[in-house]
Amino acid sequence: MNVLVLNCGSSSIKYQLLDMSDNPEVKAKGIVERIGLPMGILSHKNYRDEKYETETPVPNHTVGIKLVMEALLDKNHGVINSVDEIKAVGHRVAHGGEYFTESARLDADAIAKIESICDLAPLHNPAHLLGMRAILDVLPNVPQTAVFDTSFHQTMPPSSYMYPLPYKMYEQYKLRRYGFHGTSHKFVAEKACDILNWNIEEKKIITCHLGNGASITAIKYGKSVDTSMGFTPVEGLMMGTRTGDLDLGALLFIMEKEKLSVSEANSFINKKCGSNGFSELSSDMRDLEAASNEGNERAKLTLDMYAHRVKKYIGAYAAVMNGVDLIIMTGGIGENSCHTRKLVFNDMDYLGIKFNFEKNEGLRAKDELITYEDSKAKVMTITTNEELVIAMDTKRIVFGS
Ligand code: ADP
Repeated sequence: MNVLVLNCGSSSIKYQLLDMSDNPEVKAKGIVERIGLPMGILSHKNYRDEKYETETPVPNHTVGIKLVMEALLDKNHGVINSVDEIKAVGHRVAHGGEYFTESARLDADAIAKIESICDLAPLHNPAHLLGMRAILDVLPNVPQTAVFDTSFHQTMPPSSYMYPLPYKMYEQYKLRRYGFHGTSHKFVAEKACDILNWNIEEKKIITCHLGNGASITAIKYGKSVDTSMGFTPVEGLMMGTRTGDLDLGALLFIMEKEKLSVSEANSFINKKCGSNGFSELSSDMRDLEAASNEGNERAKLTLDMYAHRVKKYIGAYAAVMNGVDLIIMTGGIGENSCHTRKLVFNDMDYLGIKFNFEKNEGLRAKDELITYEDSKAKVMTITTNEELVIAMDTKRIVFGS
């Protein structure tokens, strides 16, 4: 049974077609880019590793989806014979506001709700809606679902999610902390509990999703009770190009000195800061590690700052939950960067962690314990797969299993 997973941006459509029978498999994936520009481009790859690229104008998302269908149906690089083989479409949706506590089937009511909270995610939700409407045009009879980055965090208590702003800001604008990466935090916590044969409802888990964007979540007895991203994904950890936590006064100072408009300031904190801005070298952890190894002091400091902030949040969340049983490292950096893990878990024995530094070396892209057997709190690397979560949720919502 095939499920099409879509992540629609304002000028792009990322897609994966997954066969969701007993052993899920990616049949094809790709991206349509430069939608709305004079020339668009589709890059496609199937499970046989055959690649295909085409350039053609893509004036809107409906044309983009038609192009995806052509690629999936193509005699050479395609993977299906008829669009009827696509049984459901699952959309990654950035923001579900306070409406969605879990993934949802897309009916008129759900679409209206997603539309009504566009000002909470002005860059993302409108683009997702374009994708949903394009599917209605091209595959009108195929059921659609929405899987939200925010919904897993809707269990946070108000003491975690409220900002100390005038209360009317919450009432008027729904200004509060929402958190993101929810599908990944939930997925890796459940996967780790499956591997360890643990009941998630009895455990205190801290999940560190460290990719280009990064967030940490405190999961107590299966529920998110705090997370580091807030109203927007800028809050929390230092990231590839985002500041993470920053004194608001510093931002006002910069805006005044550099004469930045609101939109310039927004672009500054999202795109010009973090590891990239500070190192003036790269946002990519591999580049920074290589430079640091060659003696670049700024790169070394960037890595130290990055790890320091992860460590700080782990300590905070252990305090929030009155302890921790398991810390999970996931995302490109969490899964692969031995150096970051080494820095984070150095001197963490106060939490009952006996970190196996030897095993940590060279450990990449695996689901593995990296603490000794008698470690009271455990540390694991767990590989995440957000598209698979979207496809699994979609299958469950549409077909009930
Ligand atoms: P995204 O948030 O875009 O999905 P990823 O989860 O793929 O990002 O993470 C990208 C980050 O992972 C980059 O900073 C990259 O340098 C880092 N990364 C990937 N592989 C390694 C590696 N072997 N060692 C260190 N960092 C790595």
